[in-house]
Amino acid sequence: MSLDVTKCEICPNKCGVDRRIATGVCGVNADIRIARADLHFWEEPIVSGEKGSGTIFFSGCNLRCVFCQNYEISTLRRGKTVTVDELIVEIKNLEEKGAENINFVTPTHYAYAVKEALEKYKPRIPVVYNTSAYESVSTLKELEGLVDVYLPDFKYYSSVLSKSLSGRSDYAEVALNAIKEMFRQVGEPTVENGLIKKGVIIRHLVLPGNVEDSVNVLKTVYAEFGEKVWYSIMSQYFPSGRAKEYPPLDRRLKGVEYKAVVAKAEKMGMNNCFIQETSSAKEEYVPEFFGDYPKK
Ligand code: SF4
Repeated sequence: MSLDVTKCEICPNKCGVDRRIATGVCGVNADIRIARADLHFWEEPIVSGEKGSGTIFFSGCNLRCVFCQNYEISTLRRGKTVTVDELIVEIKNLEEKGAENINFVTPTHYAYAVKEALEKYKPRIPVVYNTSAYESVSTLKELEGLVDVYLPDFKYYSSVLSKSLSGRSDYAEVALNAIKEMFRQVGEPTVENGLIKKGVIIRHLVLPGNVEDSVNVLKTVYAEFGEKVWYSIMSQYFPSGRAKEYPPLDRRLKGVEYKAVVAKAEKMGMNNCFIQETSSAKEEYVPEFFGDYPKK
């Protein structure tokens, strides 16, 4: 029972806690908490389209990156509690607003709720699963046929770096296996009228002072997936969360660093790839969240 919250092993942390009465690494119990449900225009163009991506941000996170750009909800767990039926209402509201897709952001620890909601109500528009990629293959298998587009990060290559910044030395291995499963489910991208309907987009946020690791990330994913997925090399890093305690993450990304990573991607022959202006490293990319902060 990979989605059993009474002995939670939903993600690779395998905390084994009973989330009806306790919390694990993700910091949240079995109550579903969301911190935003609205149109979002700053995803990749084939995700946001013209009308915006219908994002639903979940509170808590199973991967505690020290530089988290959404610290307020991932670690401080800001949000409001909803039932599965209320989650479905949010999905329907976003459809009515004209969303190009329903985009579940950091849903891993609530995979059981996502599954239940989608089994009760499958939107007419594509479902996007937007994740750190620190996922269990068995949990992903539970979502087969319900998710159309996977939007995983691939954050680190080095186990030393992933241990130091996210507390997990097995990140790269776990993420690669998870993305293989995502690709097995949805296959190569289908893009219609400039919008992705099915497929995988692998995101990588370039971190200050870590060009070599970024290059190794791109080499790893390109060797595995080639042009069968899309890639997104992101420059929007800004110091957030506890980043100030972890130099060089206490500064913004330099243009020269981002360009060095993009140049390597081009040299590798990576074509299906989104790149950004380094000027996009602004805190405006963090949307406004709603809800309160749980006391414990
Ligand atoms: S979902 Fe949360 S409680 Fe469950 S294994 Fe992952 S981090 Fe632990």
